[in-house]
Amino acid sequence: VTGSRAELTAALGAIVGPADVLTTAAACAPYLVDERRLYQGRALAVVRPGDTAETAAVVAACAAAGVAMVPQGGNTGYCGGATPRGDDEVVVSLERLDRVRALDRVGATITVEAGVTLAAVQDAAATAGLLFPLAMGSQASCRIGGNLSTNAGGLAVLRYGMARDLALGLEVVLPDGRVLDRLRALRKDNTGYDLKQLFIGAEGTLGIITAATLKLLPRPTQRVTFLATVGTPAAALELLARLRETVGDHVTSFEYLAADALARLDEAFPAAAWPRLAAPCVLAECSGFGADDTRLLEAVAAVLEDRGIADAVVATSEQQRQTLWRMREQVPAAERQLGGSVKHDVAVPLGELPEFLDTVRAAVVARWPGCRLSVYGHFGDGNVHFNVLAPPGADAATFRRDHAAAIGTLVHDLAEGARGSFSAEHGVGQLKRAELARYREGVEIELMRTLKHALDPRGLMNPGKLC
Ligand SMILES: Cc1cc2nc3c(=O)[nH]c(=O)nc-3n(C[C@H](O)[C@H](O)[C@H](O)COP(=O)(O)OP(=O)(O)OC[C@H]3O[C@@H](n4cnc5c(N)ncnc54)[C@H](O)[C@@H]3O)c2cc1C
Repeated sequence: VTGSRAELTAALGAIVGPADVLTTAAACAPYLVDERRLYQGRALAVVRPGDTAETAAVVAACAAAGVAMVPQGGNTGYCGGATPRGDDEVVVSLERLDRVRALDRVGATITVEAGVTLAAVQDAAATAGLLFPLAMGSQASCRIGGNLSTNAGGLAVLRYGMARDLALGLEVVLPDGRVLDRLRALRKDNTGYDLKQLFIGAEGTLGIITAATLKLLPRPTQRVTFLATVGTPAAALELLARLRETVGDHVTSFEYLAADALARLDEAFPAAAWPRLAAPCVLAECSGFGADDTRLLEAVAAVLEDRGIADAVVATSEQQRQTLWRMREQVPAAERQLGGSVKHDVAVPLGELPEFLDTVRAAVVARWPGCRLSVYGHFGDGNVHFNVLAPPGADAATFRRDHAAAIGTLVHDLAEGARGSFSAEHGVGQLKRAELARYREGVEIELMRTLKHALDPRGLMNPGKLC
């Protein structure tokens, strides 16, 4: 660090205004701890620029002082990627970059600043009669810059893809303060390397995303949402295949809730008003276009009947639909209420899922007898959250402290062994750096480091995260 801390904070204050340079413990506190309370960080300051020019000037000032920067959006990430690690780092919060810059109804694109929440992007699209399909439990708080930086997935990946698939253009402040303007609303643009892709999923290690141009889609007029007892994971996959054969890519979401996830919901929310079906269940949604949803409903009902699935609840009102989704979205809250879990976010090829689940379940239960599980997730994407809670009566924090690493190694070894991924959608952050080194040796890591060095030779952008 060159110059004094006071000089840097004064310089930052001159750029964004003193009120948006936070230095007191109380003001900084919410920015220094991660969503899961795994990391308690420290920082020299939290700075909140108000636009791209201020962000670029902040980055240039930090770079001139040799001070590292940690970009932060909604701070809902699950891997500690937005938490600063030392009091020589500056948190750059994008929350004041919260404007919708443009919406093109005919071109079906929206250009938003990085700090717009995901829910606000969805709302802006809906107001124009269009759909922004990225959706997840944290959508009221997470911000689009964070969604792109983690390449977030969520509840409708099956039909619409991940954040990366929805990005047309980006505006990025590079680690030296230069601005890369690739905000193009083009579906076709073959002009060399697609540089925006470097920053998507980079978890803030290559630059700060300040704005994005995103794809919008036609807004479905019909939705059929159902919760059904499926018997086994293999039967769930067969149901998915039959649904897709019948209604094609109208299948939008296909979420799985194993018996233990339903048990955790019951333990945490015994009085909740959602339906209780025999486990395991699938919560699926099909969406389409047309005057009414009778034909889609009939097609879905025929598939359920054909698969011999009698135990099912089909939402008949928007309120019922929301109740079903609330049930699914409350699983992380149930785990939190029960003291927290050792979380995993693994993916395996779809066909491997049933055997993987059997194997990992047997291995974990054999080694940690009495532990409780919570297994659920985006089954249609091959992505499951295989979460492990302390045995009843045991101290949850102690269990996690003593066993999280060994449980993680076991689960991740089995997922990688099935040619899967130890991190399907949450990223690497601080939490899974050891896993990245364990499972991605050789040329892959070398290339990542080469890219990092090319864009950020001084290592000032979110150090200690990712690779
Ligand atoms: C209840 C709940 C449900 C969730 N469900 C899902 C889910 O279904 N699918 C899923 O993928 N995730 C899910 N998440 C995780 C999380 O919400 C997502 O990862 C989200 O995309 C993070 O966005 P954020 O704005 O909070 O990012 P932050 O937590 O602020 O940051 C995440 C990472 O991105 C970087 N970053 C943030 N903004 C920028 C920027 N403008 N430029 C450069 N780097 C930046 C940070 O440095 C950090 O490395 C869930 C979280 C919760 C709490």
